[in-house]
Amino acid sequence: MSRTTLLECIGGTPLVALTRVARGLPVPVLAKCEHLNPAGSVKDRIALAIVEDAEARGALTAGQTIIEATAGNTGLGLALVAAQRGYRLVCVMPEKMSPDKRRALAAVGAEVVITPNAPLDDPGNFQNVARRMAAERGAFLADQFANPANPLVHERTTGPEIMAQVGGPIGAFVAGAGTGGTLTGVGRCLRAHGSHAQVVLADPVGSGLAHWVATGEPGPDAPYLVEGIGSSRAPANLDRRVLDAAECVSDADSFAMTRRLWAEEGLTVGGSSGTAVVAALRVAARAPDGPVVVVLPDAWDRYASRDWAQAVPDAPIDRRAV
Ligand code: PMP
Repeated sequence: MSRTTLLECIGGTPLVALTRVARGLPVPVLAKCEHLNPAGSVKDRIALAIVEDAEARGALTAGQTIIEATAGNTGLGLALVAAQRGYRLVCVMPEKMSPDKRRALAAVGAEVVITPNAPLDDPGNFQNVARRMAAERGAFLADQFANPANPLVHERTTGPEIMAQVGGPIGAFVAGAGTGGTLTGVGRCLRAHGSHAQVVLADPVGSGLAHWVATGEPGPDAPYLVEGIGSSRAPANLDRRVLDAAECVSDADSFAMTRRLWAEEGLTVGGSSGTAVVAALRVAARAPDGPVVVVLPDAWDRYASRDWAQAVPDAPIDRRAV
């Protein structure tokens, strides 16, 4: 199939078996390679869907500015769509996110505003700052945390792709939640098709979401280093009704698994992929009724400056070999 614009290259990502890190488990573990989207993450899907929905509603018009609160990936997806469609882009990011993502966003022409790492009820929180700036500037707020176009595109594209690629019953679907769009959308798709797959949240230790899945009340939160997933409070786009369980994964386990994915599988992914795969291996070990599908949300290039990505020492020049 010939694709003529980069926007047509969004989605349709491969589903590959983790042949090494999942060796010996009772069911296959299959990874949905969202890091292979054109702007490098699962967020390309929602960037295009949110813009197209807003254009159709007349909420976004030619030459307008798009503002978004982002961990970085939605910003990079929106930058791709904005470049192709002629919009300006402002990205509001918490301080915690990697300098690599900030630099990439600035390089692709976005205005980047950094906020302190403040909780959601603080006016300085990145989501509150983005909302205020959009109102002040008369700009369009993409609002990925509450915009229904986010889970809907996963229900209409990511979910059906996975069902077709597996081609039979799915034992479990495992993903992290930043906005919840991926889990909610794929979860709704599976439920709508009568799948008995367990839908499992992979949550960083320190996030309050796993406790909320179990009890309906957010758990205590604490700082953690994995980027893009977990929260002190459940976002509107995370639908608790489609979730069966949660697995908590430490930073150390997430980053160790990410490096194994690089070295043993050739999957050049970011830290939240490690979190999701650790959770998926635990679920697979419990022998569900079919393969476990896990989402790899983004690519490693956006974490190159992080300490956890420095485990491989720089190779010295071997003068004797010259
Ligand atoms: N991993 C990373 C690195 C992300 O940036 C995000 C989105 N913030 C996710 C996972 C989670 O995706 P979702 O927003 O669909 O829950």
